[in-house]
Amino acid sequence: MLLRNLKAPDGVFIDLLVEDGKIVAIGLVGTLAASDEEIDCGGRLVFPGFVDAHAHIDKTLLGLGWYRNEVGPSLQDMFDNERNLRMERAIDFHQQSATVARRMIAAGTTATRTFVDIDTDIGLKGFEGVLRTREDLARGLSIQIVAFPQSGMLVRPGTVELLEEALEQGAEVIGGLDPSAVDRDPKGHLDTIFGLAEKYDRDIDIHLHEPGELGAFDLEEIVERTKRLGFQGRVVISHAFCLGTIDDAYFGRLVELLLENDIAIMSHGPSGPRVPPPVKQLRNAGVRMCTGNDGIRDSWGPLNMPDMLLRTFLLAYRNNFRRDEDIQVALDIATYGGAQVIGDAEYGLEPGNRADLVVLDGENQLEAIFERPERWLVMKGGNVVARDGACLV
Ligand SMILES: [Zn+2]
Repeated sequence: MLLRNLKAPDGVFIDLLVEDGKIVAIGLVGTLAASDEEIDCGGRLVFPGFVDAHAHIDKTLLGLGWYRNEVGPSLQDMFDNERNLRMERAIDFHQQSATVARRMIAAGTTATRTFVDIDTDIGLKGFEGVLRTREDLARGLSIQIVAFPQSGMLVRPGTVELLEEALEQGAEVIGGLDPSAVDRDPKGHLDTIFGLAEKYDRDIDIHLHEPGELGAFDLEEIVERTKRLGFQGRVVISHAFCLGTIDDAYFGRLVELLLENDIAIMSHGPSGPRVPPPVKQLRNAGVRMCTGNDGIRDSWGPLNMPDMLLRTFLLAYRNNFRRDEDIQVALDIATYGGAQVIGDAEYGLEPGNRADLVVLDGENQLEAIFERPERWLVMKGGNVVARDGACLV
């Protein structure tokens, strides 16, 4: 298939040839030979597919009617609220994850890393539902699954065994959560997570909401194990709010540790009063970063949308970015940064890469972040999987 007359990120008008699911040639507009199958893109902008590197597609309430959220302020309130909600409403994890995955595809997301709750109440039901969605929608969206002990692990005996089952059945990543605040046993929690990662040869992605010195302590514990087990390049710390609240000298030391051990940071530009990790300083130092929509229309994120252009906007907004080059960094994190963190080696708008791309109206990329127009065309692995804002898979 030949996509004619696209505006490349640098503003040059190009043609782009796709064969066998890959981008095989890019030339100035009008320079590539005609093809049996052509789409005139009318000078619209082309982006590489968006990468939502931190989602929770098992939790969404999209399509279930408005959920009246009366959750309390603490993290524990949020855990309890969600578990109660799951008891009250029988959530069909397959249907719910498919609903939000289709919305992601319609908005140009072509790959996601999604955390899936595993606990002793629901067992592997959420995981099995997301596994089915991964199969059903593989044509439109790559779904990488993190086995995630959202309700705690050591405080709920039986959880570790369930996590192991999920890893045996195809979860690509082992997740962890606030080792001190939730399990109240940082050594036990992290030794278990890293032990599972080593046993099953899986990457690690840890939610670290803990603020200030406590979060920084656990971050150092994560670093220490990453180094000891040779897991450099395989660990992500999600949220890492501690990096936004410690003093400059300590921040500098932690950044050095992150770099030495090639640990990536996920930030989604959280709402206040939490202070996000400073994206610009981390990126300038060379720390790998990704972003994602986190909980989408669920009891945690009732207003979060499945749209990575909106997430890019929020990440830039929360970091007080004004200069084009800074906002561009936020977009880079939502595309190339995410692809790198989830281990997609065939990603990008260059010949040889898989044809995952998004076409939409706009003067340039930054204007598109501001306007967030309907996605005119989304291509995944060379297949058109969304047109005019509607998912086709
Ligand atoms: Zn999360």
